[in-house]
Amino acid sequence: MLNLTGVFAGEGSLPFAFSLDLSDLDFYGQRPFAQPVQVTGTVENHAGIVTLQATASFVYAAPCDRCGTPVERRYDLPFTHTVVTELQSPEEDDGYVLAPDQQLDAETLLRDDVVLWVPLKFLCRPDCKGLCDQCGHNLNDGPCACRREPADPRLAALQSLLKQD
Ligand SMILES: [Zn+2]
Ligand SMILES: [Zn+2]
Repeated sequence: MLNLTGVFAGEGSLPFAFSLDLSDLDFYGQRPFAQPVQVTGTVENHAGIVTLQATASFVYAAPCDRCGTPVERRYDLPFTHTVVTELQSPEEDDGYVLAPDQQLDAETLLRDDVVLWVPLKFLCRPDCKGLCDQCGHNLNDGPCACRREPADPRLAALQSLLKQD
């Protein structure tokens, strides 16, 4: 819990750092956050506007949604929130974080940020070609024999060799 009384009073910024354990989070049978998520940031007051800026750093490990190859990727994601003690109008709540008593639960806030970030489709690379639906061959490793009718007899001979294993 961050005490923002000093920040709201204009007495300088408040740096913070903590780690989040998201190792229990289960997405479609995967637990992609094996290691703790490291969060660092500051809360600052600029002319009465209180802004929280944070960076969440973590390794996300999951199989590619197209080809199934295990992928481990490091992320440093920036998140920004405007912190208010009250909302001027009910429609305003988009993007604003309410801290009526000038206390902010930054752990829950950043945990929600990271969970909302989790990609619906996680790929080993943007142009992953996936697996052949006939033979299961990983098409990132090159075309498989069942897809392409070889015009070149030397290629046909090579592909019949490849087919055997
Ligand atoms: Zn892939
Ligand atoms: Zn194939």
